[in-house]
Amino acid sequence: MRYLILPLIAAMALVSCRNPVPSVPNTDPGSQEPSGAAMKPDAKTKQQPESQPAMTYNKLNEQEAYVIQQKGTEAMGVGEYTDTSDDGTYICRQCNAELYRSKDKFHSNCGWPSFDLEIDGAVNRHDDLSAGMTRTEIVCSNCKGHLGHVFHGERLTERNTRHCVNSISMRFIKAGEKLPAKIVLPKK
Ligand SMILES: [Zn+2]
Repeated sequence: MRYLILPLIAAMALVSCRNPVPSVPNTDPGSQEPSGAAMKPDAKTKQQPESQPAMTYNKLNEQEAYVIQQKGTEAMGVGEYTDTSDDGTYICRQCNAELYRSKDKFHSNCGWPSFDLEIDGAVNRHDDLSAGMTRTEIVCSNCKGHLGHVFHGERLTERNTRHCVNSISMRFIKAGEKLPAKIVLPKK
């Protein structure tokens, strides 16, 4: 009896060592053969939709990703658009969605581009309790990229609202220039 059990235990140990190798539980012993020609076409058609995304957002450099994706803040007064007053449209740097019009931009002297109105539906608001403050974060409603914060009651304009937006979260398109198409990714 002992001579029969020992090889069985050894065989079981071998199986339990080999099991963790495939990432997907696989009960079909035939598929472990490297020359499983019959399995190949099937596996390919299954994997293709996941490995090939239809579209991606605009590529971001390290600084852009820090602000837009990790909710960072660019330094005061250094942003590209802080004092821009040309006619045009400010779009999301990550997805090209139209966010603000130049006619709604004003000089607040706060050190970041300021607007008192967003393009209808372009911006979502969230409570932000970070940094020991109670603020309202604003994000692009299409790609959820971080834009900045919105403040009320400062009496800087008639609308009494200030969207304090990081320049790096936006791209300015001058009036008359073609706006790039908004990138809308399929919902997951
Ligand atoms: Zn966006």
